[in-house]
Amino acid sequence: MSIPFSDIKANAESIRHQALEAITAVIDSGQFVLGPAVQSFEEQFAQFLGVPYAVGVNSGSSALQLALLACGVGPGDEVITTALTFAATVAAIYYVGAKPVLVDCELDSRNIDVSEVEKAITAKTKAIIPVHLHGLVADMDPLMELANRHRLWVIEDACQAHGARYKGRRAGSIGHFGCFSFYPAKNLGSFGEGGMVVCSEAAACEHMRSLRNYGQSGKYNHQYLGYNYRLETIQAAVLRVKLPYLDQWNALRRQWAQLYRQQLALGSAVIALPSEPAWAEHVYHVYAVRCRNREPLAKHLAGLHISVGMHYPAPIHKLPAFAELDGSFPIAEQLAEQMLSLPMFAELTAEQVGQVCQAINSFAVQR
Ligand SMILES: *Cc1c(COP(=O)(O)O)cnc(C)c1O
Repeated sequence: MSIPFSDIKANAESIRHQALEAITAVIDSGQFVLGPAVQSFEEQFAQFLGVPYAVGVNSGSSALQLALLACGVGPGDEVITTALTFAATVAAIYYVGAKPVLVDCELDSRNIDVSEVEKAITAKTKAIIPVHLHGLVADMDPLMELANRHRLWVIEDACQAHGARYKGRRAGSIGHFGCFSFYPAKNLGSFGEGGMVVCSEAAACEHMRSLRNYGQSGKYNHQYLGYNYRLETIQAAVLRVKLPYLDQWNALRRQWAQLYRQQLALGSAVIALPSEPAWAEHVYHVYAVRCRNREPLAKHLAGLHISVGMHYPAPIHKLPAFAELDGSFPIAEQLAEQMLSLPMFAELTAEQVGQVCQAINSFAVQR
């Protein structure tokens, strides 16, 4: 009886018939690029977040790149972000020709340490990209206060935080821009690739709408150097079916997180669980515990056919692609070394969570 790390097929199965109907409607319409399904999903997603504008794009990476371009970030500019994130956050900063400036994270939240951000601000700083790692929103109030005082843009990387809340507000709706990915493994995933960038300014929204469509404003009137970054119509149709279920899928993830919290024994093997501050509603894209000695525990679980992951095994500055950013970010390094991601997806069962906890607790006793 193996326990997978996540189960994309089970999630797809739960909406198979509605998704097939939606895909059939796209086929019947003959409109496979943009069109009403994309527009309707953009409106639905904007309403879900409580923001005025949303622009569908082909990935979370493109969402980040277009948000940076809409802020006018380019060569000579610096963008501050966390040392512990998925590589795409930092890659997007390079795509626009700017320089990433890394800041260490907090041990408890694993998010950017807002108290360290001010020291990283220089005359060249244009924007800050907080990442809501694993589905927990970064501490946005002090970050927005700091950014507004220094007249900096804030672009939320909410690619792991669809539906998460910060003091009642949805992730992605707090900064000047919010970026989402619909990669299949995310909490809201398409049947392929997709992304969304949201904002509250009409002009920035129109700029990004043009940039995703070869920089056109009107057919063949190329206003900007643009891209083909459009959200596929079939993906929008599938996402339109899935979005109404997101809150209930996230509630299930929260339920499994609560079971892990109740049943995992802290001690010799696991030394810390994910934290959830009172102001947060974590959506547990990833449920990562901190281990004293990760490798033997991971091996023990693999032996019991329990799949685990690491998010991420190395902080940004230790990756070959970003070697020039090397510096000292001790908390990010410690987290990358200690964190182990346990099975987490809506379709888990209480029995499976119990088996994972028992496997971990019995390993601790053996040692
Ligand atoms: C998934 C992810 C991205 C990139 O999204 P893609 O759709 O794969 O381009 C960016 N940032 C974070 C934090 C992510 O988890």
